Amino acid sequence: MRIIKDIKEMQMFSDKTRKQGKIIAFVPTMGFLHDGHKSLLKEGRKYDCLVMSIFVNPTQFGPNEDYNSYPRDMERDLRIAEEEKVDIVFNPEVKDMYPDGFKTYVEVKDLSKNLCGLSRPSHFQGVAAIVAKLFNIVKPNIAIFGQKDFQQMSIIKKMARDLNFDIDIIGMPIVREKDGLAMSSRNTYLNTKERDASLCIYRAITKAKNMFNKGARDTDEILKEVRKVIELEAASKIDYIKICDIETLEDIKIIKNKALLAIAVFIGKTRLIDNCVLSDMITPITKKTNYTDSDKEIGFKSV
Ligand code: AMP
Repeated sequence: MRIIKDIKEMQMFSDKTRKQGKIIAFVPTMGFLHDGHKSLLKEGRKYDCLVMSIFVNPTQFGPNEDYNSYPRDMERDLRIAEEEKVDIVFNPEVKDMYPDGFKTYVEVKDLSKNLCGLSRPSHFQGVAAIVAKLFNIVKPNIAIFGQKDFQQMSIIKKMARDLNFDIDIIGMPIVREKDGLAMSSRNTYLNTKERDASLCIYRAITKAKNMFNKGARDTDEILKEVRKVIELEAASKIDYIKICDIETLEDIKIIKNKALLAIAVFIGKTRLIDNCVLSDMITPITKKTNYTDSDKEIGFKSV
C-alpha cells in the first residue's frame, strides 16, 4: 500500500495506471473508518486498482459545526486500509487542497435544498466541490458512495452527469450495528446513555416500514407516528423527518411505489442521520454483504 499526499503525484499515478488499461475504483472518506467504509472498500477491491482518500473537508462544515473535533485516527485508518488491501491512500493537506484564493464551489440546484440542505445551507456545495476536485485528482473510472448519505449520493450522481465526469457512481447499502444504529464516525461522540437513546432512530424507521408494509401510503399519517417514536426519547431533538420522492428529494404527500424516509435527529449535541427506502418492490439481493435482515426485507441493494 502506498500513501500519497501530493496532488501531482496522485495524478501521475492515476495517468500511468489508466494507460496500463487498469480500472481505478475510488472511495472518498473523511477517515475514522468503520464497517460502513469497509463495505465500500470491499466493493472497490473488485477492480484493478483501489484508491481511498482520507480528507476531513473543511468546506462542508458550517461555522458552528464539528470540523475541529471531528474524530481522526490516521494510524488505525492505515491499518484498516492495509487489511482491506487498498492500493493507494490519498491523504492531502488542507493547504494544498484549498490554497489561498480558492473561490470555486459546485452548486447542484434543487437536490441540495431539502433535507440536510435546510439546516446545513452550505454543506453540499462544499461536498460537491471536494468530490469534483478529488475526481480530477484521482481520475477514477468508478467511485463508490454509501446510501447512508442518500442526499449526498444523489447530488454526486447528478453532478457527475451534469459536468460530464466519465465516472460510474456506485451506491452501497447502509451498514448498521447489530442493534440497528447506522454506523457513523460521529457515533463515537455518544456517551453510554446517548448511545441507548440513539436507537430511537432505528425504532422510528422500523415503525415506518411496518406501517408501509401494512398498506399506509399517506405520508402525514406515517410521519406522525414516526415523530412520536422519536419524541418518546427525551434526549432526542428532531432536525427533520421527511418522506420524499426518491429522485427529486422533494416532499411527497402520497407514496406511489417508492419513497425515501429521511431522518436527522440530535441526540444530545450529536446530529445523526439515517434513512430507508420504502418500496413495494422487494429486490432480490445478490451481493454478499453484512447489511441487516431488515435492510434485506425492504430490498436494499447496490444501485
Ligand atoms: P464519511 O467518511 O462519513 O464522509 O463517509 C465516507 C463514505 O462512507 C460515504 O460515501 C458514506 O456514505 C459512506 N458511509 C458512511 N457510513 C456508512 C454506513 N453506515 N454504511 C454505508 N456507507 C457508509
